[in-house]
Amino acid sequence: MAVNELLKEYSPYLEYRNGVLHFDGVNLKELAAELGTPLYVYSVNHIRDQIRAYKEAFPDALIAYAVKANFNLGVIKIAAEEGCGADTVSGGEIYRALKAGIPADRIVYAGVGKTDDELKFALENDILMFNAESEMEIEVLNELAGKMGKKARIAVRVNPDVDPKTHPKIATGLKKSKFGIDINEAFDVYRRAADLPNVEVVGIHCHIGSQLTDLSPFAEATEKVVNLYRRLKAEGIEIKYLDLGGGLGIKYRPEDRVPTPKELAEVILPKLEGVDARLILEPGRSIAGNAGVLLTQVQFLKKKDGKLFVMVDAGFNDLLRPAMYGAYHHIVAVEERPEKVVADVVGPICETGDVLGENRELCAVGRKDYLAVLSAGAYGFVMASHYNMRPRAAEVLVENGTYRVTRPREDWDYVLWRETT
Ligand SMILES: *Cc1c(COP(=O)(O)O)cnc(C)c1O
Repeated sequence: MAVNELLKEYSPYLEYRNGVLHFDGVNLKELAAELGTPLYVYSVNHIRDQIRAYKEAFPDALIAYAVKANFNLGVIKIAAEEGCGADTVSGGEIYRALKAGIPADRIVYAGVGKTDDELKFALENDILMFNAESEMEIEVLNELAGKMGKKARIAVRVNPDVDPKTHPKIATGLKKSKFGIDINEAFDVYRRAADLPNVEVVGIHCHIGSQLTDLSPFAEATEKVVNLYRRLKAEGIEIKYLDLGGGLGIKYRPEDRVPTPKELAEVILPKLEGVDARLILEPGRSIAGNAGVLLTQVQFLKKKDGKLFVMVDAGFNDLLRPAMYGAYHHIVAVEERPEKVVADVVGPICETGDVLGENRELCAVGRKDYLAVLSAGAYGFVMASHYNMRPRAAEVLVENGTYRVTRPREDWDYVLWRETT
C-alpha cells in the first residue's frame, strides 16, 4: 500500500508532501525544528471531524468528551465549541473542563474514589450528574448536598458484567473490576437512593472498557441497561439519562479495522426504541487518539548483537502506553527515504522497558532526524511524568497549515516548583 494511503487511515490530515510528513497542513520537520522535541501535535480538524461524526450518528445525544483522554485546554475548547459536554473523573478535570468553556450543565463526573472536596466542588458548580460508583458515595453526596442546600443529581454506574474483549488493564465492565455497582444489585440501590431527600435519581451510567473494536459488548451492555431502565420505570423511578460511556477503539496497527460512530449507532440506537431518556456518550480515545502524533528526535544509533537501536528523546515518561500496556504505536520517519532499516526505537529512560517500538521497519534515519509516533493523541501527554527529572513535552495544535502552542515545554525549574530540602 502506498504510504500516504496508510497514513490517511490514521488521519485524513496526515500525509507526506514532497517527502516530508505534514499534519493538518503543517510541515512537521519545520515544526519540530522550531519548537523542539518531544512534541505532541494535535490536529484541530481531525478532532472536529470525529466529534461531528458522533453528532451525526447520534443526533439527539449529549456527547460528553472524556477529558481524561486528552485534557489539553485547547483540545477541550474544540469540544466546547462543537457543543459537547465533558465526562470527568476528578475535581481537577471538572475545573479544566469549566476553564475550557464546557458548561457545567453538560458535565458528568465518574470515579470510584471521589473526595469530599471534589464532591463539594462539583455540587457548588451544579454539574449535570454524578456517576456514583458505590452506595456509600450516594449517602455522602446526600449529606454534603443537604449541608449546601443543594440536590445532587445522580446516576448509578452499573457494572453489567460484559467482557469488552480488550486489554485487561482497560476492561472496566467485568464483575471483578473495582468499577460501578453490580447491575443485579443496582435496582435496590436505586430504590434506597430515591428515598434520600438531597439526591435526585436522574440516570443510569455504564462504561465497560476502552479500545473496543468489537461492537457486540456495546450491544450486550445496552440491553442490560435498558432492562434496568424498564424495571425502574415500572417502580416509578423516572430515568432521564442513559449514559452508555465511551470505549470505541481506534487504529493503532496498520492492519487494524475499527468501527465508526455510525456503526456504533446502528448497534445501540435500535435497542433504545421506546426509551424516553436522553442518551449520553462519553468518547475519549476515538475523538483524540488519532488526532495526535508525538514527534521525537533521533539522538544516537548503535548496533548491538546484530540489532539496530535508534535512541530517541521521547521516553515512557512522555508516552507510557507501550511500557504500561505493551501497546503498539506505529512509527514513521518525518522525512521519507528510499532506504529502509529494521530497528528498535528506544527512549532515554534508565529502564529496560523504555521501548517505543520493537523490530520496526523505518526509513533510514540518522542523528537529529525526526520520527513521528502515531495514534498518540489519547492517553499520551495526560499520562506523562517527570521520571528521570524529565520536563514534560510541549503541546501544539495544528490547523489548516497554522499552529498554536497550547502548552509550552516545561523546564527544570518548573519540575522543581516549590520543592525544598
Ligand atoms: C475513560 C472513560 C471514558 C472514555 O473512554 P474511551 O475509551 O477513551 O472512549 C468514558 N467514561 C468513563 C467513565 C471513563 O472512565
